[in-house]
Amino acid sequence: MFKKLKKFFYLYILRKKYYRTGTCLGCGRCCQKIYVKHKNVIQTEEEFKKLQLLHPFYTYLKIIDKDETGLVFECTKLDKTTNKCTIHRTRPGICRRYPQEELFNMGGTLAEHCGYRLEPIESFEEVFNKVSKKLNKR
Ligand code: SF4
Ligand code: SF4
Repeated sequence: MFKKLKKFFYLYILRKKYYRTGTCLGCGRCCQKIYVKHKNVIQTEEEFKKLQLLHPFYTYLKIIDKDETGLVFECTKLDKTTNKCTIHRTRPGICRRYPQEELFNMGGTLAEHCGYRLEPIESFEEVFNKVSKKLNKR
């Protein structure tokens, strides 16, 4: 019963498609090699400078590379010897909520070996059956 209520709540109230499971292993990988998407993945320093005016989080980032996806950033608040966030208590909401399924909508993936998992709430069969029912009604 609890499982069914939870599923209903996540699917129809929160409008989520995935459950987040697991835990943070404190590897710090999600604070390095970051792409930033604001409408599109940030490609130039000029675009990034404009973005920095919008939210303090972006002022923590520094450009470390550019590849076929766009500019690559790492966070200056990460202590690279301990892999710990130096502002953990006051870290931005985006970091507190990581990882969220919106990551997938942005074309991203979980960092390699991340302790979290994003598990589909509905199985492939459930989604398939729903779509089939809708199509049959037409
Ligand atoms: S990549 Fe995952 S396990 Fe590593 S610090 Fe980030 S949230 Fe934690
Ligand atoms: S503020 Fe902390 S948790 Fe957020 S990206 Fe930077 S180092 Fe990581």
